[in-house]
Amino acid sequence: MTLCAMMFFALVSCTDIPQEVQITDTQLLWIVNKNNPIDENFKPSSLTEHQGVKLHTEARDAFIKMKEAMQTDGIGGLRLQSAYRPYHYQRAIFDQRVKELKQKGLTNDEAAYKASQSIQRPGSSEHQTGLALDVSINGVLNQSFADTDAGKWIDENCHNFGFVIRYPEFKTEVTQIIYEPWHLRYVGNPHASIMKENNLTLEEYWSFIKESGMYIVWHDDKEYTLVVYANEKPTTGEIISVSSNTQKNATEYIVTH
Ligand code: ZN
Repeated sequence: MTLCAMMFFALVSCTDIPQEVQITDTQLLWIVNKNNPIDENFKPSSLTEHQGVKLHTEARDAFIKMKEAMQTDGIGGLRLQSAYRPYHYQRAIFDQRVKELKQKGLTNDEAAYKASQSIQRPGSSEHQTGLALDVSINGVLNQSFADTDAGKWIDENCHNFGFVIRYPEFKTEVTQIIYEPWHLRYVGNPHASIMKENNLTLEEYWSFIKESGMYIVWHDDKEYTLVVYANEKPTTGEIISVSSNTQKNATEYIVTH
């Protein structure tokens, strides 16, 4: 049991123990892609701003800590280029690309298909969750970021701050997105560290926890966190956090105890 779980237990034991407690979906492990779009009206409840860029508050705090740690290691200049993008913004950049392609002679369907290979269709971009961050050191988002000191540092260390490189190299078949070393997704810990240790994308992490049923993360000889798969949202128990798999029609849950 972790300290958090003990504190939670102590808290509920000194009041009336509820039969069912309201457990919030942290949304941290949502899969958002073309097969799992999010609602047009979805807006994260916890949005904040960092250097003029809006993002999820927890992701912002983690980003600041990560940037400080990078600076301590002598690597400066990391910029947050983009994070939260509302549906209508994604719609506008997608439609603009379709328009350009149609002007080159493509039909509407052809243009939409071609556009979707480089720009996520509206609702399919995880930027709408506020949990996805595009980072750079020179304002350019391309694969050469992986070869910079900042890119290498992030690859090695970002999991310690709850981030993963969401579209890794050699995982395009799983994610359906090209290698994007600049696109980080905040999933929190212990999830980011388990994904890093086992070389898993977010899609693969869900299957991995489902197949394992339960995964134990030891913090030392006595303290541990349990990561458990569930096909129903739990309403009781000593729970640290719960995330569903998707925003719409969720059928699976990852619970940490
Ligand atoms: Zn991105």
